[in-house]
Formats: sequence, structure tokens, C-alpha cells
Amino acid sequence: MLDKIFNIKDIYDQIIIYRHVNPDLDAFGSQLGLYYALKDMCHQNIILLGDMTSDLLDYFSPFEIGSINAGKTLGIVCDTANRDRIDGDITLCDQVIKIDHHLIVDSYGDINIEVENAASCSEIIALMFQHAHLDIPIEAANALYLGIVGESNRFLYSATSAHTFHAAAYLLEQGVKITELYEPLYMKNEIDLNVTKYIYNHYHQVDKIAYYYLSDDDLKSLNISREKGSSYVNTLADFEQFDVWMAITEYKEKGIYRVSLRSRHIPVNEVASQFHGGGHAFASGATLNSLAELDNLLNCLKEICHV
Ligand code: AMP
Repeated sequence: MLDKIFNIKDIYDQIIIYRHVNPDLDAFGSQLGLYYALKDMCHQNIILLGDMTSDLLDYFSPFEIGSINAGKTLGIVCDTANRDRIDGDITLCDQVIKIDHHLIVDSYGDINIEVENAASCSEIIALMFQHAHLDIPIEAANALYLGIVGESNRFLYSATSAHTFHAAAYLLEQGVKITELYEPLYMKNEIDLNVTKYIYNHYHQVDKIAYYYLSDDDLKSLNISREKGSSYVNTLADFEQFDVWMAITEYKEKGIYRVSLRSRHIPVNEVASQFHGGGHAFASGATLNSLAELDNLLNCLKEICHV
């Protein structure tokens, strides 16, 4: 698959690497993993697009965003199911390669590398380098490893396969030191303790669905960003009485409510797509335009819990 990039890259002056809005570890892991590797291997100007202000970037090595010049441009979009979710303008590019592991809803690339059953986009990219027998710099290996462990929750989720472990093994061979990456990633602090306490004290249960809601005021008083507020969604995982669990956070600047949906065995992506979202069968994102839509969402979820 890497030949698809390598065979055409020389006709381009620059390569822009994109990923989705509301980035998670896999979005950054795949985008930055590819960036550090291509920077090492290519003579082209490599540019990163998308909002680069997330706290998650503290886990990654430094990078330069770069500036877009005139000239022929190749775009590579990582981890993004549909055109609307790309954080950046792909019309800047003469040719676009999509690399993704979400359910296929929009093959917007000129070349589409879509592996629906991969546990992460970072896994797909790591395996591309492995299959090409290439070594990658440690910054790239670390980024891809973070993407893999973030998206699979340290190899816990059901999408984890033998391929996931092959990718991880290749990255360890490239020099990844697991404990150096895990310590900052999994170390908890007083804020985590307070948020967890808040969630256990304030979550709601409707039928077999559990959810917590963090308003903008709650986020401020807990001293966390909206993105961080969603990231505690699995605090409600692994309870036998909940089949579906979710985090709802107020996104005040946009006047919307971001929903992170998770489940054990019940596919939630179709319900997510009815609420301006989508994603994976057991992990999807959605948006409510007002809290009045919450009852409707809960009713749709109740229905799928009882089929
Ligand atoms: P989140 O709850 O935001 O962490 O999202 C869970 C998964 O669903 C991630 O893989 C996201 O990339 C994906 N996802 C979130 N929102 C959407 C959407 N609107 N369309 C497609 N996929 C989404």
C-alpha cells in the first residue's frame, strides 16, 4: 500500500497531511506518525493542517506545521471517514489519498486506503512501513504506537487483531519504549480524581443506557477542556447493567452538545449517524443541537438495546 504513496510522491512539490476535527490519539498518532516518517524519507515540503492546540499533543515529539507554497500538492488524509470531518481544506491538493479505518461512508480520496476492520489508522500506517521493510524514526514509531494504544484502549477493544499486535511488534523493533510512553499517558492527577468522582456522583441511567453530562460551567469548575470532558466516557464502561454508555459535553462556542457513544455488543453507529455523527460499531461520536434532542437520542438507543 505504501507504494501508492511512494510511486506518486515524486511528482509533487509538497505533501499536506490532514486528520479529522475533534482529534483523538489515533488522529494525531496517524497524522504525526506519517509526518515524522515522510520528513525523514522525502525531500518534499511536508505540512500539517488542522487545529494543533490540543493537550494531547503533549504526548508527541515536537513538530513544525510548515507553510504551504505554490506548486503541485499531494494531500494525505488520516483517520477521517468523511469529507466534512476533515480539519482543513483538501481543495488545495492536486491529488488526495485517504487512509482510514472507519466504516466506509465516503471514499473522497483519489486513492482510498480503507481498512474497516483495522483497530486504528495508526495500525494501517505502521503495517505499511513494516510491509515495505522500512525503518522509521523513533518520533514516528512513538506517534503510531500512541495512536494504536489510544484507539484500542491498550489492546482491549474487540477490533484488536493479530494485525494490531504485528504493528505493535514492528514499532517496538523500531525502538518504542512502552513505559516511557505509558507513564505520561496513564498517570492520573487530582483533576482526574475530581472528574471521576463527579461522574460517579452525577451520572444518569435510563434503561440500559448510562450517561454523564458536563455543561460548560461544569467543565470550568472541574478545570478541564471540552475534549477532555468527553475522554472520561469509559468511566461508565464495564458495568453489567449498562449496555450503552455516553459522555455529553456542552460545546459553548459552537452552541452544540458533543456526544461520545460507546457500547459492548450493540452497534451504535447508525443511531450516531441520525444525530450528525458516525464512527465505529461500538464507538461513535454524535452532536446534539440542543439538549431537547437528548430524549430523542435516548429513545433511539433504548430501541436498539431491545432488538
Ligand atoms: P469520539 O466519541 O468523538 O471519541 O468518537 C468515537 C469514534 O467515532 C472516533 O473514531 C471518531 O473518529 C468517530 N466519529 C466521531 N464523530 C464522527 C462523525 N461525525 N462521523 C464519523 N465518525 C465520527
